[in-house]
Amino acid sequence: MSFFGRKPSAPRSKSRTRTKEPSPSPSPAAPPLPAPSAEAVFGANKPLYLSRPFADAALVKGKFKTIIQLPPYVDMWEWVAVNIFDFYTNLNEFYGVLTEVCTQQSCPTMSAGPSLNYLWTNQDKKQINLSAPNYIDSVMSSVQTILDDENIFPTKSSQNFHPSFPHTVKLVYRQLLRVFAHLYHAHYEAILHLRSEPHFNSLFAHFLAFGKEYELLEVADIRGEADRPVGVGLLWERWKEAGILDS
Ligand SMILES: [Zn+2]
Repeated sequence: MSFFGRKPSAPRSKSRTRTKEPSPSPSPAAPPLPAPSAEAVFGANKPLYLSRPFADAALVKGKFKTIIQLPPYVDMWEWVAVNIFDFYTNLNEFYGVLTEVCTQQSCPTMSAGPSLNYLWTNQDKKQINLSAPNYIDSVMSSVQTILDDENIFPTKSSQNFHPSFPHTVKLVYRQLLRVFAHLYHAHYEAILHLRSEPHFNSLFAHFLAFGKEYELLEVADIRGEADRPVGVGLLWERWKEAGILDS
């Protein structure tokens, strides 16, 4: 179901026995905090990804409701698993193209806004600064490990998803969101140079719509904190205003 026309690569293409699942519940309403304006966050340096025509460039026109909808007779968590696999694969490919410009020198921090640098939580639960390439490599390899773990992402029809699956996929979603946030914030010019902005915008809008629909995304993670807003939080607001995404 990827709009890239790719089949979900192995191993997620295997069919699974359907299990009972609750239908996805509607996403909770966003907290009534007003979103800051682009001017308030960026001053006179409004980034290109929030500017016309780039902010509105898309491969997928209209709403995402149809492509995120749970297909009939498909297990909801199976649907979530297949889509996360696709988001990861597509984002990883974009990142692969941008590794030349995302270096230790260009990106000594995992920046995602004028005053926001994500910290990585290491094995000792300590928050440490990593360069963006190191941070993203850590995200991608940890997500790959999770996707490859049969106990978390089972591919056998006899095996059900572990009860901790919803919690795990939320953590995956949060980290993938951070990768999107950095690539938009730090490398959108390179994306424009590749003329990939319609592709990248559609991938991100699909990711946001899906995350909201299946409650994998926290609004606080998209917006950030008042004094450290996430740059792409404003893109999310803009797409909601334009009717591309549901509020
Ligand atoms: Zn970078």
